[in-house]
Amino acid sequence: MITIKKIPTPEQAEFIERWNVALDKSSPEDILTWAYNTYSPKLTMGTALGNSGCVILSMLAKLNLRIPIFNLDTGYQFPETLELFDQINVKYGLGIIRRTSDISVAEFETINGGALYNIDPDRCCYERKIKVLESIAPNYDAWISGLRRDQSSTRANTQVVGWDAKFGLVKIAPLAHWTNKDVWKRIVEESVPYNKLYDQGYTSIGCQPCTRPTSAGEDERAGRWAGKQKTECGLHG
Ligand code: SF4
Repeated sequence: MITIKKIPTPEQAEFIERWNVALDKSSPEDILTWAYNTYSPKLTMGTALGNSGCVILSMLAKLNLRIPIFNLDTGYQFPETLELFDQINVKYGLGIIRRTSDISVAEFETINGGALYNIDPDRCCYERKIKVLESIAPNYDAWISGLRRDQSSTRANTQVVGWDAKFGLVKIAPLAHWTNKDVWKRIVEESVPYNKLYDQGYTSIGCQPCTRPTSAGEDERAGRWAGKQKTECGLHG
């Protein structure tokens, strides 16, 4: 589970910082257009089809910015998430691909003597998600994520344009400065498809075994790995 951190060249670091400042107050559409013009065809997006991700997908479609998009399918996603995946692909025609581990869930659990998410969720996330992205990352220079600063204290400093040392990619967060309310406003205004689990009290949706609904007053991501020290899967911190 050792990931060697990759550092940007001084020129890359200067470029990233300059554009991070320049785009900090820009609209998500302008940020996405800049990202496309700067990095395509070496630009990709990873999405778990959360509410922010779905809004970004709707923007990419509206702007007709065609990039490769993937969903890291751990094999433990909710059926509702898989249904949404099909629904989004039909509505927007973005050709989102589900990327999976080479090892099926059944084999994985046999090798590990059961469900690894119960005893070592960090390693489970590493095997089911991080390794898959590590195999994708060398094909690209930059990736788009749905991170927002208001999602949790660990995401409060999210840059619009930053450096992802884990994967050696420029990381672009077009909704970094949006709030949860902004996201839902756009979903309603433009009938963006969303995960129906949000209607059942979920406020952040990951894998089924590691996600529960949240209560009023809890952080948006409090239902992820509840009762464990873990707050991130390792993709974003
Ligand atoms: S979120 Fe849970 S089930 Fe999904 S990869 Fe991580 S530990 Fe495994």
